[in-house]
Amino acid sequence: MVRLQEIRANEVAVEPPPPTDAGLVFIGRIRTPWTSRLDCPRQGRRDGPTCRIEIFEPWVAALAGIEAFGQIEVIYWLDQSRRDLVLQSPRNDGTTRGTFALRSPVRPNPIGTSLVTLVAVEGSTLLVRGLDCLDGTPLIDLKPDRCQFSPLAAPQPGDFQTGD
Ligand code: SAM
Repeated sequence: MVRLQEIRANEVAVEPPPPTDAGLVFIGRIRTPWTSRLDCPRQGRRDGPTCRIEIFEPWVAALAGIEAFGQIEVIYWLDQSRRDLVLQSPRNDGTTRGTFALRSPVRPNPIGTSLVTLVAVEGSTLLVRGLDCLDGTPLIDLKPDRCQFSPLAAPQPGDFQTGD
């Protein structure tokens, strides 16, 4: 079952410090077909529906060059998640696992990431496939897939460092 806000058998919640959200700026909004967490995919799929990522001003200029990448990482804020569980029971059967050993949306800082296929860039909007979030989910960042990206800046000593 998808979690709304309930605590399940053997799950453990803590009293978290008041959130400050680290001063994040939402740079856009994600438009998907899903309006309920009960309907969202658990993880996006490459052959899933085309979704729209709308970028807000003044960040639209930051899309320059993104069309060169077939895959991009999308980083988003799972804004409807609870944030206080350290042990979770995804199967709701009394067995638990630590939050940091899960990709659950329930986490102290509810950041979601998906590697998506870039279908098209239409002005300030990206069309992508591979998302799993609710319609209206706030966007934190976009990055080219690290496998398709080569650093443009000159190498640094750490780039050649190996071992202990
Ligand atoms: N792909 C991301 C990841 O691995 O970091 C997110 C995975 S998370 C398991 C996806 C689930 O989060 C969806 O199935 C839905 O139940 C939930 N979800 C989607 N959008 C959300 C939102 N805006 N707020 C809270 N939960 C959301």
